[in-house]
Amino acid sequence: MLKLQTGDVVRLKKPHPCGSAEWEILRTGVDVRLKCRGCGRIILIARDKLRRSMRQIIPVKDP
Ligand SMILES: [Zn+2]
Repeated sequence: MLKLQTGDVVRLKKPHPCGSAEWEILRTGVDVRLKCRGCGRIILIARDKLRRSMRQIIPVKDP
């Protein structure tokens, strides 16, 4: 089971055209809303697709 939390950063296998491969999680669910850390673009991706295209999770620091 993919464990994601709002505020976590995920690193994808394929970088965004802007050059950044890191995305911040804005909302989780069946679909996950991600914000590119390079250009600020927001995308919606299916959780299952994210799981397959993800390389690493960088957990959010404890509040
Ligand atoms: Zn970008």
